[in-house]
Amino acid sequence: MNRIRLLSEQVANQIAAGEVVERPASVVKELVENSLDADARKIAVEIGAGGRSLIRVTDDGSGMSRDDALLCLERHATSKIQRAEDLASIATLGFRGEALPSIASVSRFTITTRERENTSPEGAQIIVNGGKIIEVKAAGSAPGTSVEVRQLFFNLPARRKFLRTEETEAAHIQHYLTLAALAFPEVAFTFVKDGRTVWQLPAVKSGAGLLPVKTVIPISGQIAALRERFRALLGDEKLLSVNFSALLEDDGNPSAPEETDIFENALPEKSEIRNQKSEIRVWGLIGSPGVSRATRDGQFVFVNRRPVDNRGVNYALIEGYHTSLMKGRYPVCCLFLEINPAAVDVNIHPAKREVKFHREFEIRKLVAQAVHDALLAFHGQESKAQSPRPKAVEQAELQPAAEASAPPPPDFPEKLHPATTDPAQTPPAAQTPLKMGFASAAQSAPSAKSADVSPSAISQLPSSSATPLLNVPLRLVGVIGKLYVLLESDRGLVLLDQHAAHERILFEQMLNRLEQNGSAPSQKLLLPETIELPPRDAQFLREQLAVLTRLGVGLSEFGERTFLLDALPPFVKVPDTRRFVFDLVDELRAAGREVNLAPLGEHTVAKTVCRHAVKANDPLAGPELENLVEDLRRCAMPYTCPHGRPTLIEMNYRELEKKFGRAQ
Ligand code: ADP
Ligand code: MG
Repeated sequence: MNRIRLLSEQVANQIAAGEVVERPASVVKELVENSLDADARKIAVEIGAGGRSLIRVTDDGSGMSRDDALLCLERHATSKIQRAEDLASIATLGFRGEALPSIASVSRFTITTRERENTSPEGAQIIVNGGKIIEVKAAGSAPGTSVEVRQLFFNLPARRKFLRTEETEAAHIQHYLTLAALAFPEVAFTFVKDGRTVWQLPAVKSGAGLLPVKTVIPISGQIAALRERFRALLGDEKLLSVNFSALLEDDGNPSAPEETDIFENALPEKSEIRNQKSEIRVWGLIGSPGVSRATRDGQFVFVNRRPVDNRGVNYALIEGYHTSLMKGRYPVCCLFLEINPAAVDVNIHPAKREVKFHREFEIRKLVAQAVHDALLAFHGQESKAQSPRPKAVEQAELQPAAEASAPPPPDFPEKLHPATTDPAQTPPAAQTPLKMGFASAAQSAPSAKSADVSPSAISQLPSSSATPLLNVPLRLVGVIGKLYVLLESDRGLVLLDQHAAHERILFEQMLNRLEQNGSAPSQKLLLPETIELPPRDAQFLREQLAVLTRLGVGLSEFGERTFLLDALPPFVKVPDTRRFVFDLVDELRAAGREVNLAPLGEHTVAKTVCRHAVKANDPLAGPELENLVEDLRRCAMPYTCPHGRPTLIEMNYRELEKKFGRAQ
């Protein structure tokens, strides 16, 4: 007896819908993707009851003819690809030709469409009910397409039951729309929830005049547009621009992991000698040092404008931040990877959420490098090279504080200018410099304006458009709590964490010495100590001895599980040797687990060692503070300590005015 039958089209569609239409947000995603693929400049999304009762997406895109509108409801009907080979290089968001028939099979569905290119004022409307076409008629409408989905899953009670609360479903929808709006700043988005307008985002022009959507605009314009869209959606955040490109070997073969140093190995140069190359571009915005989140919620990553979740890229972000990110925290970013569509497989997930890179390892390295470069560029690497500072700067020191508030010559960062000649003589609390500080602050506020810093520019500080904090003159005001150094700049108040700054300086000095001399300074201990470790730790430590010695930690084997500690870097004091060694073992282990391709051994040792640096609790006097700031200026990553905590906090005049209720 023959028992196998072909499923009806309707059942097949419902099965497909099980994969494509997980929840109302998936419907919104598919419809908005279609609008974007149709070159829409304006997209309006309206939902009711978390998308259960209504989802309507209206666009001003290309629209469809009556015949196409009928065809688009058939399974595997698509205008985006033709042959199997096309799957290898997909440049549109959709390509499976499944979304519309799937959605129509599980809802009460109406599509109204009119071709943009056609002069006829009449469009077509098709009404579908649970996959059955009910009516096809002519309808007057604006050019573009409007899809209305009512009562999602009305014919699949089990699926409908599994939907979460209206708020949860609405939140999923809003999340997707955030991604789409970030990826397409040049498209205007409106989002209406239960009759209330949540967003009305105007199209952000990234160049002069009206450019057709999808024209190639310079990256700087795209970044500016993204910044504006980001602010409109997610508020003010201190963000740095990323603009990185490199050549990628383009042979379609997965790359073999290599054990190389991601930061020292300049990949673009290396790949120049290869034959087949294609460009990879990494651009967008990342949080300034000190900006982070407890979850990945602030992380938006797109591959060829498609929002994706990719483990490799997630790791790369953390690797790129390296010491600028606190442990357990996640970067904030909106990053776009643009690569040859042939180098990435988007057809591995029915909802297209995941992608697979053919050269995953290389991409991961490049993303880490792009992030790292942006962080380095933030401070301006040249100031690292300028040491010691030329004599001429010292003259500035002799000027009264008020005069010194004039902006410095652009490429010549001024030296820290103490407001008093000898602060050590006056007790920190009641000192004239305080008064002078405030007096000059009042004068320097307008001078900030005369230096052509608009209020909106101030509010973004320190963004790439503004001079980084350590490149503007800073005047010493005082020290509070024996720890926080109060400074003032033309832009407002600056607080420096003495210990965090000290740790950063020692960390970089240690690594620089290591690079120059092959080892960091070390001092013999008067009383060497022995430490016994559990067998597993002992074995692990034995493998790390060479790295430790290079960094000035003199540890040697003294028996099966016993080690002798007889030297330490000169600035380190460890009251509890055993704990110090355990710390090292734990940190090195954790580093090995987290990321296995970064040059982490040495950095981890340096980081741990710096935490044990002697902490002088006496208030530092003027010249010492001056040196501290100068040394910090010479660092490559001065804005965070090696553990990612901020070294400096800025509160500009705008923020102060807000707090004091002088401005909105
Ligand atoms: P896919 O997007 O994978 O091609 P869909 O089922 O989502 O499959 O859509 C089928 C086809 O219908 C698309 O290829 C496109 O030609 C057309 N289409 C869908 N939505 C729109 C729209 N908003 N504007 C213009 N054409 C559309
Ligand atoms: Mg589609």
